[in-house]
Amino acid sequence: MKRITILGSTGSVGTQALEVVRDHPAVFKVTVLSALKNSELLIQQAREFKPAVVVICDEHKYAEVKNALAGLDIKVLAGEAALSEVASYADSDVVLTALMGSVGLKPTIAAIKAGKNIALANKETLVVAGELITELAAAHQVKILPVDSEHSAIFQCLVGEEHNEIEKIYLTASGGPFLGKTRDFLSTVKKEQALKHPNWVMGAKITIDSASLMNKGLEVIEAKWLFNLEVEQIDVIVHPQSIVHSLVQFTDGSMKAQMGVPDMKLPIQYALNYPDRLKNNFKRFNFLEYPNFSFLKADMETFRNLDLAFTSLKKGGNMPCILNAANEVVVEAFLNDKIGFLQMSEVIEQCMEEIAFIEKPQLNDYLETDKHSRILAGELVTKSIV
Ligand code: MN
Repeated sequence: MKRITILGSTGSVGTQALEVVRDHPAVFKVTVLSALKNSELLIQQAREFKPAVVVICDEHKYAEVKNALAGLDIKVLAGEAALSEVASYADSDVVLTALMGSVGLKPTIAAIKAGKNIALANKETLVVAGELITELAAAHQVKILPVDSEHSAIFQCLVGEEHNEIEKIYLTASGGPFLGKTRDFLSTVKKEQALKHPNWVMGAKITIDSASLMNKGLEVIEAKWLFNLEVEQIDVIVHPQSIVHSLVQFTDGSMKAQMGVPDMKLPIQYALNYPDRLKNNFKRFNFLEYPNFSFLKADMETFRNLDLAFTSLKKGGNMPCILNAANEVVVEAFLNDKIGFLQMSEVIEQCMEEIAFIEKPQLNDYLETDKHSRILAGELVTKSIV
């Protein structure tokens, strides 16, 4: 049995992970569940999966959860700090970090220090503090198993290739709902349009990031740390069908790709049960439904966020942390109709110019940078209201 902690069990990845667990009761046992504020779903999940501990981050909902689970022998904790406590919970083998945003940093550190393997869905953790996290994981001999579909693809391509050098990797991007659109068009788009992703069903934040190509930018940074690459070794290619999930090119020019119907349950299942594959009944790929695959250059002039992410990675230090924090603020503002689609990049760029650069940040520097970048981004959003 693999004993699993799910941080962020009521989100898109969390609920899909529970579907995987439900399909394989002899393979997986959930021991910890946590939710930000969706107490109703958390209660329902706790009743079904009977974890030993649940955490509700929103402390106002503690009594509701506690009362609903009374008599079930489930410990109920509340508050964000409890996430770090349960991340190191003894009776757990893998911690699935399916939280949204840089809030995942501290619990991920706690889990690594406790020797847990990490099934990483919270890419922001590696974006903010990739160097620190990968060094810590190596020191504690824990594995970071990517859940992000592109990184899972690269990871799967590298199985058996540990002794071979990577020449470069290609991360595929669907292009999102605004593929081929101009800046004129983008200047007027609203959240309802941005939330319509053509291929993937995901949470609101990552769906907006996909529309702006920031998601791909964050994934470039994530890939650098997961696979120990130089920025020049990472390329992005738009592949609107989302069937080729990413590719590795080795030093002899040979390329390996991992393919499949877009379904997050597959990379989730692979990470949770690594290194073994599990039989399932997910939809299979049919060549006849896809007579053509296409590949296009990513348009970084229209979608400036991807360019900003590359710039932040080249600069290094706390720059990706600045980018990420500002992005979390502007995405939220865009979802609340407080800022336009193109203004998101403007705010992020200004934060990257104005926040103090730190070349070799420690944990506290990252936390401070995150805070400052959020404050500045918030001020810039307020000023930008027309
Ligand atoms: Mn992805």
